[in-house]
Amino acid sequence: MVEGDEATSEDVVLAAYTWTAGTCFKCGRRDTRTATVGALPRAAGRLTIQACQACVLRLERDREHAAQRYGWPYSPGTTVERLPDPGENP
Ligand SMILES: [Zn+2]
Repeated sequence: MVEGDEATSEDVVLAAYTWTAGTCFKCGRRDTRTATVGALPRAAGRLTIQACQACVLRLERDREHAAQRYGWPYSPGTTVERLPDPGENP
């Protein structure tokens, strides 16, 4: 666990995600390394939300600060909903 108010290192945060080329939903940067940070349910298929490294770090930093303030457990990468594989039905 993180001691005091020391922030989790950027390397640790970035390593918690899988990175692929895409467009960031927040800053609109194209053809950059992005990670899936969420998904919108749709009638047909799924729309995933991709964010670039700078935006992921900002999102994680906000989340870590909130966790420290309210005493919630924090670990990087947990904003990502674990999406079932296509074709996998409960
Ligand atoms: Zn971005």
